[in-house]
Parts: sequence; C-alpha cells; structure tokens
Amino acid sequence: MFALDRQAGRLAGRWLPAPASQLLWARIVRDDPQRSPLVSAAGVARAAFQSWRHLHDYGLPIEALDDGDSQETVAFARWCRQYRQALAERGWVDGPQAQSLVHAVAVAPGLEFVGFDRLTPLQEALLARWAATGLEVRHVTFKAPRSSAEHVGRVSCIDAAAEIEAAARWAAARLDGRRDRRIAVVVPDLARRRQSVRRTFERVLVPATGLAGGPVPESQAFELAAARPLAEQPAVGAALDLLEVFVRPTELVALSRLLRTAHVAGAAGEAAARSRLDARLRRFESAGLGLSALAQLAVERDCPALAQRLAAGQAVVSSWSEKEFPSNCSKYVFSLLTAVGWPGPDADGTEYQAEQRWRSLVREFGACDEFTGRVSRAEAVGLLREMASRVLFEPQELRAPLLVIDPETSAGMSFDALWVCGLESTAWPPPAAPDPFLPRQAQVRYGLPRATAKLAAQQSRLVFERLLASAPEVILSVAEVERDAPLLPSPLLAGIPAIDAPTGWREPRVAVDQYARRPALEALTDSTLPPVQAGEDARGGARLLELQAACPFRAQAELRLGARALDEPAVGVDAADRGNLLHAALAHLWRELRDQATLRALDGGARRSAVQRAVAAAVATVQGSADELLKHLLVLEADWLEARVLEMIEIDWGRPPFVVAALEEPCTARIGALTLELRPDRVDRLEDDSLAVIDYKTGASAEVKSWLDERPRLPQLPAYVQALGTDRVSAVAFARVRSGDTGYVGVARSEKRIPGLKVPGTRGGPRGYDSWELLLAEWRRRLEALAAEYVSGDARLAPDPPRACEHCHLGALCRIAETRAAVQGEEWNDE
Ligand code: SF4
Repeated sequence: MFALDRQAGRLAGRWLPAPASQLLWARIVRDDPQRSPLVSAAGVARAAFQSWRHLHDYGLPIEALDDGDSQETVAFARWCRQYRQALAERGWVDGPQAQSLVHAVAVAPGLEFVGFDRLTPLQEALLARWAATGLEVRHVTFKAPRSSAEHVGRVSCIDAAAEIEAAARWAAARLDGRRDRRIAVVVPDLARRRQSVRRTFERVLVPATGLAGGPVPESQAFELAAARPLAEQPAVGAALDLLEVFVRPTELVALSRLLRTAHVAGAAGEAAARSRLDARLRRFESAGLGLSALAQLAVERDCPALAQRLAAGQAVVSSWSEKEFPSNCSKYVFSLLTAVGWPGPDADGTEYQAEQRWRSLVREFGACDEFTGRVSRAEAVGLLREMASRVLFEPQELRAPLLVIDPETSAGMSFDALWVCGLESTAWPPPAAPDPFLPRQAQVRYGLPRATAKLAAQQSRLVFERLLASAPEVILSVAEVERDAPLLPSPLLAGIPAIDAPTGWREPRVAVDQYARRPALEALTDSTLPPVQAGEDARGGARLLELQAACPFRAQAELRLGARALDEPAVGVDAADRGNLLHAALAHLWRELRDQATLRALDGGARRSAVQRAVAAAVATVQGSADELLKHLLVLEADWLEARVLEMIEIDWGRPPFVVAALEEPCTARIGALTLELRPDRVDRLEDDSLAVIDYKTGASAEVKSWLDERPRLPQLPAYVQALGTDRVSAVAFARVRSGDTGYVGVARSEKRIPGLKVPGTRGGPRGYDSWELLLAEWRRRLEALAAEYVSGDARLAPDPPRACEHCHLGALCRIAETRAAVQGEEWNDE
C-alpha cells in the first residue's frame, strides 16, 4: 500500500524494511553513552524496537513518554527522538509509521479480516479510513454449530506430559485413519515445548518412529504449527555455520559440524568417510587446525568432494575483502554457499520454503549499506545470524488432518474437533506483563493487552471464547500438578462440565492398526558373546569389574569389541583433566615427603612450598601443549589444586603415623579366571605394619555404599584388596578431594587405622557385615561372580538402566531406549 501511494504521488519517502529498522535501533542503543555497559545492547535494542511498534499500534502519542519517570522510559524517549531524527533526515518511513499514513487501496469486492482476536487502535483507525472512502470492510468470525452443551467438557490429567499423551490418543481416535477430518490440539507455549510434544504425538500416531532409531523426518500424520526463528531451520542453521567456518578462526567444534552436515555437496556419498574423519579430528587434532589442513586431511581420508568444496569456498573468501558494504557481502555469501554446494539435494517443501526465506533475508541484509557502513566478514555473518534469529518462520501450507498448534496461531481457524491443553489458573489468564519502556499509566489508558492483570484477563477471555467457538466439539484439559506443586484450573472453566475421558481414548487406533500390520519378526534375545578364550587379554584392569557390575553389555562392548566414545572437542579443564592433575600433584608431593614424620617436621610455610612444587610439576605436564586460553585456565586450576592438596595433607597430618609404601605401583589380582593388572593410587603402611589402600576422588560419588551392593558400583578398592592380600590390608578408603568436602571415607578393621572410617560389626559400621573378615569374604564372592559373568561372555543390558545409562555413550549401539519402549509397548498391549 505504501508503494502504491508512493507511485501515485500521495506519499513521499522511502520504505525502511524491518531488518534495517532493527539495525538502526541496535546502532542507536549501542552508541548511547548513557547505556549501562552491564546490559546487552542487542537485547535492549530488540525490546525497544518492540516498544516502538506498541507505541504506534496502540496510538500512544510520543509525548506520553515525557510522563514516564523510570530510567527505562527516559532512555527510550531519548532513543525514539534519535530514531525519528535519523528517519526524517534520510526520508525513510518504517512499517509502524507507514500504517498511519497509507491511504485506502482500491480492492474489489472489498477486504475481509479473518483471525483477529482483537484489532489494535491503529488497525481500527485504518479500517475506519478505508470504510469512509467506500471500501467494503468485513470482519469475519467463526461460530461452530453446536447442538448441545455436551460438546464442550473439561478433563483433568495428572501432569502436562499425561495431558499431551491423552490429547494425542484422543486425536488418534477421532481421526481413526481418516484424512477428511480436521482435528486440532492447542498447546500453549508450543514453540518451547515443541520437541517433547512432537515425540509424544509421533509415538502415539506413528509408532514405527519409536522403533526406527535415530532422527526421522517430521511425520505426515500431523503438523506442528509453531513459528520458530529462521536460524533454527536446519538448512538455514547449516548455512550460518558454514559461513562462520570460513570467516572466523576455525574451532574444532565448528569443523566437526561441517563434517556432519548434510548441506555440503557430496555429504551422502562421503558420509562414512566424513564420519571417520570427524572421529579422527576429535581424537587427535587440537584447536588451531585450519581449513587448509582440513582440506588436506579430506584428500588423504577419502573425502575428495569435501576437499574440492573447501578449496572452492576458500577461493571465494580470498576475494572477499576484509571490510565491505552489506550489498557486496551478500553477493559473497551467495557465492560462498554455492561454492560449497549448499543446501544439498532433496529439500522437502518446508526446507525449500526456509531456503527461499533465507535468500530473501540475505538480500534484505544487502540493502543495509546505509545502516551499517562497511563491515568485516565476521561482522556480516554475525548480523545475518542476528537477523535470522529474529525472523519467525512457519511453513505456509498446513495439510495434515491433525494440527498441533498454539493458541495465537489458531486464530481464524475452524476444526471438526478441538482439544485445548494447559488451562491452568497460572496461564489463563496470564500474569500482567507491561511493556518495559512505555509509561505504565499510558499503557493502561491506551489498553495495551497485558498492561494490567485486568487487561490480561480480558485478552485471555477473548482467545478462550474464540477457541470455544472454533469447533463443534471442544475438550479443555488441565494438569493437576507441576513438579509436585498442585495446579488449579483456570477461572475461565467455571460452568463448563467436567467429563470422564470417553472409553477408547487410551486406544491409539492408528497405532494399533499399524502395529497389527507389522511384518512377522522372529524375536531373538542374544545376550552373550563367545566366552573369553584362554590367552585372551583381560583389558581394563579394575574398570572391567566396574563396567561388568553396571552393565555386562558395556563391559563386553568396550573391552572386547573396542566400542569407544567419540571424543568431544572441549574448551578448558574438564572433570577428567582435573582428576588427572590432582592425582599427579599428590603423587609428586608424596614422592618427595615419603612419610608422615617428614610432613609433620615441616612448618606451615614449608608445607605450602612443598605443595606448590608438587602442583607446579603436575601442571607443567599439560602446559607445554596447552593453547593460550588453557594456559590461563591452568593458572586458576593450580590455585584450586593447591588449596585442596593443603586441605588433604592437613588431614594426613592428624592421622596416626604412617609411611607411604607405594604410589601408583602396578600389582596383579587373580579373581576367578581373570588376572587383572591394577594400579592403586596410594598404599600406606600403618603402625602395625598392615596396609591402608587409598583411591583419590574428586567427584561426589565416592561413598562407602558404592562397595556394598551385590553388584558394587565402584569395585576398584575391593579389587585392590585382593591384589595386596586380604590378610595384609586393614583399611580401604576414598580420599575425597572436593571444595568444602575433603577427607577420608571408607572402612577399616578397627577405628585406630584412619580416623572417621567405618568399622564392620560396630555401631555406625556398614549394615549386614558382622566383621571385617566377613566383609572381605563377601567382596571376594561378588568380584568372582562378576569375573565369571565376564569370562562367560555375558552381555545383558544394564540391570538398573536409570543408574547405569545416564553417563554411558553406547545407547545407540545397545539400543536400550528402543528395547525399553518395545517392552513397554508389549506390556501396554497385554493390558
Ligand atoms: S546405555 Fe545402558 S544398557 Fe546400553 S551399554 Fe550403556 S549402560 Fe548398558
């Protein structure tokens, strides 16, 4: 309309597209000398742009800002003045301004408005202007035919997950395989809950997806309509990642993503080779590997297409000068993406639409020369990412018979049957959420929808009434609890009859039909590997017993089949590095001291110096190969280590006398048919010549109860006892080294060994063990049982999956999730 007006000479000025307008806001906020450096300029600019739109939509005069006395309003008024001045100086008109300027457009036979819960004052004024010129303007509302009140009812579900499940089963029953019906499930906050909602609907409506393993394309049986930022669309996210790889210093994480993306030419043909290259990168390469080096590796590792595309991309970047106007940057962006073969083959309808929207966004960016000036390559990509994360994208055609949708998007739609979830009092009506930059009084006066609780309630009732009228059958549901807190139903539900879930709701008819038509499969539970042969190495040491106790499959897969987790490129000092540094520092220290007498002979200053030397020696082993960032982090880590080691030796200082007999020295344990090579962290010789065996731990899991189950969770120390001799060891302990929790925990033959250890057969000792000897005998029996399982090739899945699987990397290989889903399905079917 603005363009028509301009053509006809009724309006002057140039159109300012929304992305350009946002860039201008971002620049004004960023350059404001009065802005606190603690707030994010980008976030504030986004909110300010929104408030600028509210200002126009609700007809607040800009002078109303002068009434505000909050810091935010004062700042916003300042930015508005600058923004208006910038527009006036250059003759620009943005969207919010244009709406109050445009004239009536000649449209025969008129205009129809569908899907507006409420018109804003600006829209009403526009309509009135059009109507005054003789244009016919109609406002369409849908009212579902309803024969009796029975067609609206409310149900309660125990929690939000059960609610979605019930809605999905209801929808499956309503559809019953028919595609000529239009069913909808309205889910508030759908954009945030998208993945979990999608999983539930897939499990109910397309049960095969649960057994397929790995990602599946979005189902055709239903559609999830919740607009997501364009940057989150797979093809667009891949485009942004690809651009970043070429214009910023490359990180291993980014290179790894590049190797896994399907949006670089040749990805399908080279998938296996690229995956192997990715695994290699994670294992052996460190930060600083450049694109040229990657291209060379790609040539050597059977990825010629990748190598060729990388070279082509680099050629484009080499001609892209360091500072360019957006109009030129956008050309390089297109050339670069074409050079690497983006977006790849076989884009489906949604991907194609996302790709087209991305292309227009890059063109919009190209029109921003006046707003940004010249920008670096990295800045250009950063701005594109920012713009793509602000644009909400939704595929245009909704064709599936079942729609899962949020309350706002469903405006103007009608259905054969509708289920509305989440009608709790906390959300219907929602709490007041006034605009942060507009004066509160003015917001109330001009009726901004959530300026007060009353206005929020009015808006919420409008949406609720519209939903009730949008289908002849409407089910309204409420969750009863959220994280153990009870929830109340919305007051909007007053007068709506509670109904029972009709029989048959639990039956997912589509799912049952599909399941009934499944091909006949032979069920074979194969949970053993060939037994361990004489002469076959028992690799893994004490870890073998730990893995076997937690999950026999994992023990066999890791130690006999060589299944290994992919290394994760990480920044900084992770938990494993921290543990290694601690072990090394304590080993250095006790190699120097050798016994408690030497420790006690040192005064405070000398003790600290000894600890500093030990920590420095430990840190030096990793510092040589560390990058700059890690070097800085290691300085911090050294401070933490020094404090913890000092705490630990403080405790050793107060123990009865001891001599350190061994530090990380190898020993051998014969347990059943297994011979295990072990390496205890430390063995102390006590006053009575018996031994105390000690394991250093930095984690929270080091507890005595981890040795006491039938399948002990941490069987290393019981195994060390077997290696050193049950008659020689009189104490086993974890030396727990953690901030605020440093000290020994363990068990001992008597209290005198190490203060604080539990003594079997005494008050406070481990339950069910009358003596130290009995405990050792039980340990031996349990370890021998684990060893026998391992030797027999026992490869059952974890007996206690919630505990064992949480930190295991083998889920994709053992398919525990699918096995459990199938078992649950059988149980459900049997019911
Ligand atoms: S994921 Fe669980 S069942 Fe599978 S190997 Fe790991 S621990 Fe065992």
